[in-house]
Amino acid sequence: SDLLAVSMKLKASQLVGKLFMQGAVMTLNDLLDDETVVQLLGHEFGCQIEIDTTEETRLKVTGETVDEEIAKTYAGELIIRAPVVTFMGHVDHGKTSLIDRIRRSNVAATEAGAITQHIGAFQCGTAVGPITILDTPGHEAFTAMRARGAHVTDVVVLVIAGDEGIRTQTVEAISHAKAAEVSILVAINKCDKPNFNAENVYRQLAELDLLPEAWGGSVITVNCSAATGEGVPELLEMIALQAEVLELKANPQARARGTVLESEMHKGLGAVATVLVQNGTLRHGDSFVFDHLYGRVKTMQDEFGKNLKEAGPATPVAITGLSGLPAAGSEFIVVENEKEAREIAEGRKIGVNQAHLQKKRPFTMEKFMEESVQTGQKQLNLILRADVQGSLEALKNSLSKISSDKARLEILFAGVGAVSESDVELAMASRAIIIGFHTQIESHAEALIKQSKVQVRLHDIIYHAIDDVRALLTGKLEKVAQERTVGAAEIRQVFRASQLGKIAGCHVSEGVIHRNNKVRLMRQGKVIWQGTISSLRRESEDVREVKSGFECGIVLDGRPDIEEGDRLEAFEIIYLSQEL
Ligand code: GDP
Repeated sequence: SDLLAVSMKLKASQLVGKLFMQGAVMTLNDLLDDETVVQLLGHEFGCQIEIDTTEETRLKVTGETVDEEIAKTYAGELIIRAPVVTFMGHVDHGKTSLIDRIRRSNVAATEAGAITQHIGAFQCGTAVGPITILDTPGHEAFTAMRARGAHVTDVVVLVIAGDEGIRTQTVEAISHAKAAEVSILVAINKCDKPNFNAENVYRQLAELDLLPEAWGGSVITVNCSAATGEGVPELLEMIALQAEVLELKANPQARARGTVLESEMHKGLGAVATVLVQNGTLRHGDSFVFDHLYGRVKTMQDEFGKNLKEAGPATPVAITGLSGLPAAGSEFIVVENEKEAREIAEGRKIGVNQAHLQKKRPFTMEKFMEESVQTGQKQLNLILRADVQGSLEALKNSLSKISSDKARLEILFAGVGAVSESDVELAMASRAIIIGFHTQIESHAEALIKQSKVQVRLHDIIYHAIDDVRALLTGKLEKVAQERTVGAAEIRQVFRASQLGKIAGCHVSEGVIHRNNKVRLMRQGKVIWQGTISSLRRESEDVREVKSGFECGIVLDGRPDIEEGDRLEAFEIIYLSQEL
């Protein structure tokens, strides 16, 4: 805002003050990243603002998300792609074992005895088509990626041990999957165990709003065992069927883009990254950028270590030829050539835009979703933490009463215990605010909170928590613009100046007329023109304002036709908060 103030020839404090009046709390050094706000400010202060986004656009390569890009593609160019699957669930319920079982059966089907390399993801064939499986199970990794702006997963397999049933991390996983709006499929694992009880799991699922098919609902469940392999082919088939319903498509003709799943430094090879191609086809020799790094595909291998010439949509590959080690969740995109890739990467590294890009990117999809919903209803996402189940329920109950038809509360997750790192990740990924009631923040979550600027609000009195949430929700409502008349002047004489057009010789009769006010030109009680003042003078001096009882000369922007006896009413626009 400081820079903007300088270019508008105003004091930064004026800008910050105006922003505050409109409900946006900012400091001098905050980045004004909302174009509408900037335009509005320009309007308020009577400046024309053109935003130069060429450099930013160049560094971003594209402003579209993968989904937006695919949605814009001509249908004839799209092909069906494999679904990308993440396994989630409580610790020890068998996520890793299931993935291993699938991977081993896959090896048997392709090259007997082939040794697979761990590359973070792999594709397996089923009778109903290929499936891509991410090899980092757990909702923490899933949401950490999402918080970085990466939307990788299409289907979540929720693994529940049938002998234990739903546990705390199962509930967390469900919240994370729901917040990401991905399909959930349930694998009830360990069906080889004597105390396996699917009915118990159905009941628990039903209580969490996931009514299983077996009970007349729509949630698909499969009984399986990672130990014996029983039910695993059915599980894969169900995933593939689910994918058919989702109609996952991509354009293999496009230049490739996707997400880094994993990366490591390798002796001899340098940085190796496993990337998932999400749209387009990645080819040997392609140049690309990710974050502030770049590269040129030197080698590209699948999980069997087989060299590939190209990799199409939904294919995970390990690539080398990178300028550094990219973080998991970084986006990569292919550009024209290596020179361009290097320039963009360097531009990102030095530019202010770097911060800008990182700040903005995580929210692009959410923003898109918000816009595409277009219900006009505002939503506040919350994550709740409380010391005990009883107070959590009390808080949830009270909060459920403050939604209105203008703004809605969405509780993404409510859990007992301290605010955890995974809560912060979820808040980042879903633009949520965390409310802690009679609880604290886990020590290792502190750093992430600082870095991510996620809001965590701790309360010990329930009414304070509720008032706080109500205020946050009210803050979500758009401000209502209202005109407030601040002064009026009678036009007593009209002068003609060749350069300026007509000058209105006025007597200010009420209030104050300020140079930045908007004005209405009134004739016989009717508004005949409305606009802004281009010059306000007193005794041939430019002035900022003229008080009632004084004479002044006013030139109006756009040179409307003024006459003696007309009246000018000056007004400003104020923004009022709405009631819920
Ligand atoms: P994760 O923490 O969810 O990844 O769970 P793991 O895959 O590491 O499995 C936890 C434990 O459960 C291991 O000792 C596995 O051998 C065991 N396990 C996993 N799946 C099965 C199963 O289907 N049947 C039985 N009996 N044990 C299983």
